[in-house]
Amino acid sequence: MPRVLITGAAGFLGSHLCDRFIKEGYQVVGMDNLLTGNIQNIEHLFPHKDFEYYHHDVSKFVHVSGPLDYILHFASPASPIDYLKMPIQTLKVGALGTHNLLGLAMSKGARILVASTSEVYGDPLVHPQSEDYWGNVNPVGPRGVYDEAKRFLEAITMAYHTFHGLETRIIRIFNTYGPRMRVNDGRVLPAFFSQAIRGEGLTVFGDGSQTRSFCYVDDLVEGIYRLLLSDHDQPVNIGNPSEITILDFAKEVLKLVDNPEAKIIYKDLPIDDPKVRQPDITKAKEILGWTPKVDREEGLQRTYEYFKKVVK
Ligand code: NAD
Ligand code: UDP
Repeated sequence: MPRVLITGAAGFLGSHLCDRFIKEGYQVVGMDNLLTGNIQNIEHLFPHKDFEYYHHDVSKFVHVSGPLDYILHFASPASPIDYLKMPIQTLKVGALGTHNLLGLAMSKGARILVASTSEVYGDPLVHPQSEDYWGNVNPVGPRGVYDEAKRFLEAITMAYHTFHGLETRIIRIFNTYGPRMRVNDGRVLPAFFSQAIRGEGLTVFGDGSQTRSFCYVDDLVEGIYRLLLSDHDQPVNIGNPSEITILDFAKEVLKLVDNPEAKIIYKDLPIDDPKVRQPDITKAKEILGWTPKVDREEGLQRTYEYFKKVVK
């Protein structure tokens, strides 16, 4: 039975990955320091004989006993308000954390997949974004701590691949949503759902004309699984190309939640907020045979069922 280490295991994506790898029959070691995660996301796995949990900050030396076949490095604050509050931890986990896990992969002879992001494209001047676009990032702006940490993550991962011959995979994840997102993590979907359910104003930043393309979590997990098992060592975009303005997205949430007290209000646009974002997924289609299956209507419905239970 292969054994996989998943960092950021108690977070939104990490917890779904733990579920998937347990389901596929792997032994799973989940690691997290609960900086932005929630232990409840993985508590249901604790009784499972093939699941172990290590409470550890991966920016410090990482030790795991026993063999490892795969490492998935997902630890990092991921929401703009989280990484603005914790800029140094964000830079450290992208740089020192990634370095530690590459070293661990070397010592165990494991293949490592690292979580990069569409943010490496910054405020993109090319639309949609394909993997050969180098991006437009402000290194000293407030988002730079996340964007540059992830760009370093890609660079050091590629260096371990070319210099040490380590088996590496790099995924560039575009905005993903679903159950287990933290209610108050500040990302647009938890913000809009919690505001709509509570009958508050949905806080559209700027005039809401900026776009994003939202991918349902199960589709992303399938893409990660396929990329890990593929033989492709260059970065691959995974995301749903269905693009929408933030204002229209707020209207979709309002329609779904149907709370007469909820309405749209406008707030200032954060500094360096990307104006457009849409993945070009030609490569994922060709190399992994992957396309997203869950459309926004279905994905939002499933996510609403979750937020109905957790929003107080
Ligand atoms: P999340 O905040 O829910 O999960 C991140 C997890 O990492 C948390 O459980 C947190 O406690 C843990 N963590 C942070 N620093 C750590 C450290 N130093 N040591 C150990 N654990 C640490 O966020 P998420 O949405 O699940 O994102 C997971 C990964 O995917 C991140 O690397 C993020 O950059 C990447 N990503 C996510 C998206 C998205 O749309 N969700 C998009 C692009 C990239
Ligand atoms: N946004 C918004 N209201 C909110 C939170 C976010 O209008 O309460 C906007 C934000 O300005 C951005 C988009 O929604 O244009 C997506 O923001 P998020 O923080 O979810 O992720 P990003 O793609 O910016 O990393």
